Parts: sequence; structure tokens; C-alpha cells
Amino acid sequence: MAIGSLSSGLQLKSPREIDTMHRGGVILAATHAHVKSHVRPGISTAELDRIAEDFIRSHAGAEPAFKGLYGFPGAVCISVNEEIVHGIPSSKCVLAEGDIVTVDIGVKYEGMFTDAAVTHPVGQIDEVTQRLLDVTERSLAAGIAAAVPDNHVGDIGAAIQAVVETAGFSIVRELVGHGVGFAPHEEIQIPNYGKPKRGKKLVPGLTIAIEPMVNVGTAKTRTLADKWTVVTADGKRSAHFEHTIAVTEDGPRILTILP
Ligand code: MG
Repeated sequence: MAIGSLSSGLQLKSPREIDTMHRGGVILAATHAHVKSHVRPGISTAELDRIAEDFIRSHAGAEPAFKGLYGFPGAVCISVNEEIVHGIPSSKCVLAEGDIVTVDIGVKYEGMFTDAAVTHPVGQIDEVTQRLLDVTERSLAAGIAAAVPDNHVGDIGAAIQAVVETAGFSIVRELVGHGVGFAPHEEIQIPNYGKPKRGKKLVPGLTIAIEPMVNVGTAKTRTLADKWTVVTADGKRSAHFEHTIAVTEDGPRILTILP
């Protein structure tokens, strides 16, 4: 059993386990770059799903972590426009100029899991949508910067919330970030809102997915009849950026980026 998992319930990772997660995270980041190069008007989300799965599996020891997870039918989650998360890839869902598409990828590599999401523009997007993407990405960076030892879970959420609400957008509260590493979803929850110095204390060896989901309109959500796709209650657009990071003595280490 991993260090710390008995005493704290935080399922802490050793430096070696974090290095393994980073190797998987590099494959994940490369997958995002590969998928991005195929995002264009006219491509279906089923095609993007296959491109992502083939690319992940082309790396020995790597597999798409979401395929079959809780019964999910795709290899990755692909959510378009007002869809927030958990969109099911479909040949009927064809991207159009001006859309945005969120690709959320989990990779299992040498027994360890990483998780990261990006929202891409499809061709030219309008000004408000561009600002939505910029603000969401910036809020993720702020959340990551707060993920340092002796800060608390609430510091991450407060940092994200401040960026989003200052910009006039709303933060989804019904979905949260989470622990990740030995499993795709570990016990600790990382809300994208909160108050400084509240919640669990962050300690070195903690590995978490930080994932703000930001809406142009209402923060409220609903789930479609497919029982997977979560959409904004008002039909306005939503963006989602996510990284897996490790809390270390030297500060936050992003595990899902290219070296
Ligand atoms: Mg994810």
C-alpha cells in the first residue's frame, strides 16, 4: 500500500510513482496535441475519439482510461458547445465552424492514471467564446499555482473562482476535480470554488486533477437522456481545462504537459 494512504486517506504517491504518472501524462499531452491537429469543421466526434484511442494505444503500455469506466462507451469524452463534460463521441456529431469542442482524456500507463482536458476552438470563434476559453485556462493556472504544501483545498477553489467571477462568467459547482493516480478517481474532491484555508491541507505526494468548468451563463447544469452528457441548463456555452498535478516541496508539478 502506498505511503500515507493509511494515515491520511489522501493516497499519497512516492516520487517514483509521480515520475511514472508524468511519463503517462506526457503521452496524454501528446494525444491532446495530436487530436488538436485534427480539429476542424466537418470532422465528427467519433472520428476524433478513434484518433485519440489509436494514438494512445500506439504507445506501449498506455491505454485510454475512460473506455468502459462506469460503462462509458467512448475512449475519451468529447463535449461540444453547451455540453460541459462526459459527451459521448458520435458519428452524428459533426463539428462546425465557430463551435468549441472539449476533449477530456484519461490515460492508464504502467498502472498509474492521469487526466487532462482542453477546449479547442473549431475554426473562427466569436469574441465572447474566445474570452471564455482564455478565462477558463487562466483560472486553471491560478488553481494550480495555489496547489502548494500547507495551502488547503479551499485555496485552489478560491483562486479559480476569483478569476472566473471577476470575468463575469460562472463556475460549475455540481462537478469537481479529484484525486487521481492509483485510480482514475480518488477520494479527495477539489471544488472549483471555495474559501482560503478551508478543507483538507495539501501535502507533498498528493496528486490531483484540477478542472474548472466555466459557463457563459448560469452555473446550473442538467444531464441529457443518454445519462452521460452534462449540459448547461440555459444552453449557453461552457469550457473546461484540466491538468493532473502533483503537490511537491518545490511547488506544483504539472504531470500532463510535454517536457
Ligand atoms: Mg478529466
